Amino acid sequence: MVRAERVLRKEGKAPKIKSDQENTFDSLKSSEKIPPPGSTEETIAAIATPPGPGGIGIIRISGPLALYILQKLFLYRHKTSVPVYKSHRLYYGSIVAPGSSVPIDEVLAVFMRAPHTYTREDVVEIQCHGSYLVLQEILSLILTHGARLAQPGEFTKRAFLNGRLDLTQAEAVLELIEARTDEGRSVAMGQLQGKLHEKISETQERLLAMRAIIEVAIDFPEDETDILDSDSLLQQLRTAVEEPLAVLITRANEGKIFREGISAVILGRPNVGKSSLLNTLLEEDRALVTPIPGTTRDTIEEFINIKGMPVRIVDTAGIRHTIETVEEMGIQRARAKLADADLVLFILDATEPLTEEDKALYSSIKQNSKKQKVLLVLNKIDIGSGTSAETYRTGLGNEELVEVSAKFHTGILELKDSVFTIFTGGIKGPGWDLGAAAVPNVRHKAAMEKALKACRRAQKGLETNISPDLLAIDIQAALEHLGDIVGETTPEDVLDMIFERFCIGK
Ligand code: GDP
Repeated sequence: MVRAERVLRKEGKAPKIKSDQENTFDSLKSSEKIPPPGSTEETIAAIATPPGPGGIGIIRISGPLALYILQKLFLYRHKTSVPVYKSHRLYYGSIVAPGSSVPIDEVLAVFMRAPHTYTREDVVEIQCHGSYLVLQEILSLILTHGARLAQPGEFTKRAFLNGRLDLTQAEAVLELIEARTDEGRSVAMGQLQGKLHEKISETQERLLAMRAIIEVAIDFPEDETDILDSDSLLQQLRTAVEEPLAVLITRANEGKIFREGISAVILGRPNVGKSSLLNTLLEEDRALVTPIPGTTRDTIEEFINIKGMPVRIVDTAGIRHTIETVEEMGIQRARAKLADADLVLFILDATEPLTEEDKALYSSIKQNSKKQKVLLVLNKIDIGSGTSAETYRTGLGNEELVEVSAKFHTGILELKDSVFTIFTGGIKGPGWDLGAAAVPNVRHKAAMEKALKACRRAQKGLETNISPDLLAIDIQAALEHLGDIVGETTPEDVLDMIFERFCIGK
């Protein structure tokens, strides 16, 4: 859908608010009851709660048939259908298949009249017991009454298409669901509240104002030199557009660390304490971070929370059993593992001097094409051997070294501090509040870099007095790249890629 269509949809199709008296299916016009096939006006439904038994399970329905379906399946206080549903009010009763007298479950149901809903369409939510069988049974009844199963992220996609969220906010919904640390959550929440959208809109407005001046100059070529004050435009371009964009790009790099985190691999020769260190790190974090079943992947990953930075331990599936020795894994496999990692925690044994095996493994890491950061971790300092930390360092490329005892949990804080500083340069000082700032993600950053490039071309153009037509092209290009960020001009395939990452029911 191109921008014009999207705007049209936002403006023209927002459903009108109806009074409670009108909230019966029979009061709907017949054209409202039957959505055109294949249009986004289809009614969608999905289980919104995670799979597995739980106290409550929620099924969500969105679209023009939501109310009709509720009326068909819901018995108020187990007896009658509700004559008039009040919007945003919970009703207690049961779900019963038409023609049957046996309830499937006791439920609470809510009907939310458009446009004050997540999708800006009519929405129904049914809260039943969190049983897979109950949820499936209710869902299939809903599907036989005219709804179809929602695709991943389709509720949020509708919220976006109907103008309730811009694209950065829709992305923030996913980030919030997937956030693994408080800092990640804070970044997502700031974005959901529209912080990034605000910044982009401000920059777009400034560019639009500049484009307006350039267009006047195009229309009145005889007055071009009076209209186009190159110095003032240059100044505006630099201070009001390029500088704010450059700040956002820098922040994207910082934000990436907290959003996506880093991946680390623990390497070292046999018996240096790799498994012990991993266990110690995980144990200390267990209270803070639990393994989260991937919403888009089927694996469970182990994460360590280092001062808000999620650190994924590469290849955790069974890492405690399979942390291989150098001989077992061979240099090739060591490299394959390294390919994924941003950081190598290179474990050394303080009870023995540096060995040839340590050196061989270290040089294999260094030969790897992706230049990982290496932190030497001198373990078992509770025993020690008399060899100084400096001797290990000088033997291994003068890398940074921390001294720990995995067994006695000594030096673990220092280890975390070092990892944090390696990746952030220690940016997280007091008052550094990610939630308060607009923090772009990788997609936004790429679009901003393109916008910045276009601005720099315009800047050059202004300096060399190129024709206003050419200037307008560069300003327009910058505007379009910024439009991609908020979803005004984003190509359909990019939108699909974004929403496919969501879970079904969101
Ligand atoms: P890996 O082969 O590198 O995974 O090493 P392990 O974690 O299995 O540890 C090998 C041995 O060293 C075990 O007997 C551990 O109990 C012991 N060990 C590990 N860390 C420490 C430590 O910090 N201090 C002491 N004294 N022993 C440790």
